[in-house]
Amino acid sequence: NGLIVSFGEMLIDFVPTTSGVSLAEAPGFLKAPGGAPANVAIAVSRLGGKAAFVGKLGDDEFGHMLAGILKENGVVADGITFDQGARTALAFVTLRADGEREFMFYRNPSADMLLKPEELNLELIRSAKVFHYGSISLIVEPCRSAHLKAMEVAKDAGCLLSYDPNLRLPLWSSADEARKQILSIWEKADLIKVSDVELEFLTGSDKIDDASALSLWHPNLKLLLVTLGENGSRYYTKNFHGSVDAFHVKAVDTTGAGDSFVGALLSKIVDDQSILEDEPRLREVLKFANACGAITTTKKGAIPALPKEEDVLSLIKA
Ligand code: ATP
Repeated sequence: NGLIVSFGEMLIDFVPTTSGVSLAEAPGFLKAPGGAPANVAIAVSRLGGKAAFVGKLGDDEFGHMLAGILKENGVVADGITFDQGARTALAFVTLRADGEREFMFYRNPSADMLLKPEELNLELIRSAKVFHYGSISLIVEPCRSAHLKAMEVAKDAGCLLSYDPNLRLPLWSSADEARKQILSIWEKADLIKVSDVELEFLTGSDKIDDASALSLWHPNLKLLLVTLGENGSRYYTKNFHGSVDAFHVKAVDTTGAGDSFVGALLSKIVDDQSILEDEPRLREVLKFANACGAITTTKKGAIPALPKEEDVLSLIKA
């Protein structure tokens, strides 16, 4: 199995025990490990693939707890460093009555933001077949430089570059800055996945259609994906495009569905990138990825809900 290296943040979400209340009214919170790049690494590993996480955690109980969760899930942890000063990032999550989530972050700064280029495990990155990342690690220095260096090293080593912007607006100084920085690394990626919300944000259009998706196309791109929650996903390549329906499930918490989708896709293409040029096989892979996303919505939290291959196959069969 080829290695998938996922780069970026890992943190703890504090999720209210009661939904539909404000943070001030919440009677208590549950710890839920998260951070999109870490979720992707665990998603790959759960499905039987080989994944590593590269990022920085606080040298505190939460940081060591998160590193332990990665290892328990079979994720290679050789790319993790611990910051002696700053703490592991925390986010308090409000589940609004309409099911949407809002985040209040504690990172002033947090350990992940302090990852330096010279702390990167370059050997690990060079040994990957796929290098995956988001945009939160682009927001401030020195992590931004570490992110750009890791991407460059991965590209030079021949890795497939996979990008999920994973927009978290409250972390940016302004919406314009977020858009500009997210797009600043756009053309380096071989594979990009955006959600419907991110498509609207990046294009400035309120239409989620082929024209708006294709306005995000760039000449070196191999695959552009738009995820649409309960409406499945759309795919665009140089030669073909189309959509794949979602599975009907009873969703209780959609956290991590997109990461599960990405992890599934990467685990299926890492050893055979010719799938990206073969529409019937790509559609099979996206059906599998949609099933992974669907299963992830049926349980609370992201990591506990990430499926094993057998769970996915039984949903597809059913
Ligand atoms: P997140 O940021 O919450 O991790 P996302 O917005 O990036 O997720 P979604 O579009 O919510 O990504 O979900 C990814 C995939 O998971 C979808 O393309 C779909 O196949 C599946 N999925 C998500 N929500 C549902 C749902 N309610 N019912 C069935 N499938 C779903």
